[in-house]
Amino acid sequence: MLSYSDLKPSLDNNSTTAVETVESFLKTIREKQHLNAFLTLTEAEAREAASESETRFKNGEARSLDGMIVAIKDNISTKGIRTTCASRMLENFTPLYDAFVIEKIKNAGGIIVGKTNMDEFAMGSSNENSAFGGVEHPLGQDLVPGGSSGGSAVAVAAGLAHVSLGSDTGGSVRQPAAFCGVVGLKPTYGRISRSGLVAFASSLDQIGIFANSIEDTALLFDTISGHDPNDSTTANRPPAETFKSLSEPLSHKFTVAVLHDEQLEGCSEDVLKKYREGLEVLKSAGAEIVKVTMPVSEAWIPMYYILATAEASSNLARFDGVRYGFRAEAEDGDITTASRSQGFGPEVQRRIMLGTYVLSSGYYDAYYLKAQKARRLVLNAVNDIFSKAEVLYMPTTPTPAFKRGEKTADPIQMYLSDYFTVSANLAGNPAISVPVGNNDAGLPIGMQLQTSHFEEGKLLQFSKLLMDGMR
Ligand code: GLN
Repeated sequence: MLSYSDLKPSLDNNSTTAVETVESFLKTIREKQHLNAFLTLTEAEAREAASESETRFKNGEARSLDGMIVAIKDNISTKGIRTTCASRMLENFTPLYDAFVIEKIKNAGGIIVGKTNMDEFAMGSSNENSAFGGVEHPLGQDLVPGGSSGGSAVAVAAGLAHVSLGSDTGGSVRQPAAFCGVVGLKPTYGRISRSGLVAFASSLDQIGIFANSIEDTALLFDTISGHDPNDSTTANRPPAETFKSLSEPLSHKFTVAVLHDEQLEGCSEDVLKKYREGLEVLKSAGAEIVKVTMPVSEAWIPMYYILATAEASSNLARFDGVRYGFRAEAEDGDITTASRSQGFGPEVQRRIMLGTYVLSSGYYDAYYLKAQKARRLVLNAVNDIFSKAEVLYMPTTPTPAFKRGEKTADPIQMYLSDYFTVSANLAGNPAISVPVGNNDAGLPIGMQLQTSHFEEGKLLQFSKLLMDGMR
C-alpha cells in the first residue's frame, strides 16, 4: 500500500496532485463500499480541501499534511458533519464544533474523506456492536476487523485513506490494527487532547492513529499532539517531534523486556511463532532480553471492565432523551428511560448496568475502589519495567482475526481478546501494534511494543526497526 510519505515526493514536484489523489481514493471508497467502513462520506469537503492543498503545492507553500487522505472514527466531533458513535442515540447528531485533533489536521492540510464505522460508543472488540451493521475485514472470509475502531483500521488496510484516527480505551486502536495488518499507535494518556472525543471512560480514553507506515504515524502524531487548554488532562508539553527522530540512529545496545512464558499461555501457535521471529529481529539489532512479570495480570481484564464501565455509566448519563440525540415518543412512557432503552444497543446497556452496579453504595468498596488500587499496582509495575528496559515487547492479541459471530454469544470471551492491550490504558503509557506478517492462512498478525510515558519518539524508532526487520 502506498503510504503518504511515499507519495509526498510526487506531490512536492507536482508530478501528481492532491486533487488526483483524493479522486483516486474516493473511487476506491466507492468500489469497496461493501466493507461498510464509513458511516458518512465528506466528498465535497474533501475535494475543496484537496484543491486548496494543490494550490499550496503549486506555490511551494505546502503544509505538513497537505495531500494526506484521512479518515476519522465517528466518535470524534466534526463541525457540521454527523457524528453518530455508531449509535441510534446520535444517528442525527451534528456537532457545532471540530475536535482539537480535527482543527489540527485541517490546519496542516490533511484531507478528511469521511467518518468511520465503529462499535457503538467504542464498546466492543469486533465491530459487531455498530447500530449500522458490522465492518467487513478486508480479506472477507466472514472475519471481523477487530474493534472498536474497526472502520478506521479497514480504511487504512483497504486503501480507503492514507491514515485514520481511532480511540483506544482498552485496545481499540491496537487490536483492529493487528487484525487488519496496519500500524496502530495509542500515545501516552494526555499527549493528545480528548476535547471533542465523545467520552467512554475518560481516565482511559486516548485518540490513536492508524497508518501503513511508521513515518505516516509519526507525521500525524506530531501534528495532533500537544497541550490543549480545553482539555485539562493534556500534558503541558509542546507537540511531539517524532518524525525527525526517526532518522536518528538507535543505540546498538538496548534492553527489551518480555513477559514470562505463563503470561503468554493463552496465545495461539501462529501468534507465538511471529512473536519469536520478532524477538530474533530485536536481538540481532542489539537487544538484551530481560524477562519480567506483570503482577495481577489475571486481574487486568476484570479491573479494566470495572473501571471502564463505571466511567461509562457516568459519561453516558448525558444521553437522556432531552438534551442530545434520540428521543422516544411520549406514549412510550418516561422519556429518559424509553429513549435510553430504544437509543442504546444491548452492549452499551450491559455496560451501563455493570458500571452502575460497581459504583452502587453497597459494592463500591468491593469493586470500584479495589480496581482503583489494583490499577496503581499496574502503574508501579510498568514504571519498574521501564527502569530496567527501554521497551516492552509482547503480542497485541492472543489470536489473529476471528470469525463473525464467534464470540458474540459470550461477552467474557470477547473481553479476553483485550488481555495484552488493557495494561497500557490502565498505566497510561504509550503502546503500538506493528504488523509483522501473516500466518499460514494469510491472516495478519501484530506485535506490540510499549515504552515509558512520553517516549513515543523511542517507541516509533523501535517500531520501525521491528517492522523493517519482519518484511
Ligand atoms: N474492547 C474493549 C472494550 O470493549 C476496548 C474498547 C476501546 O478501547 N474503546 O471496552
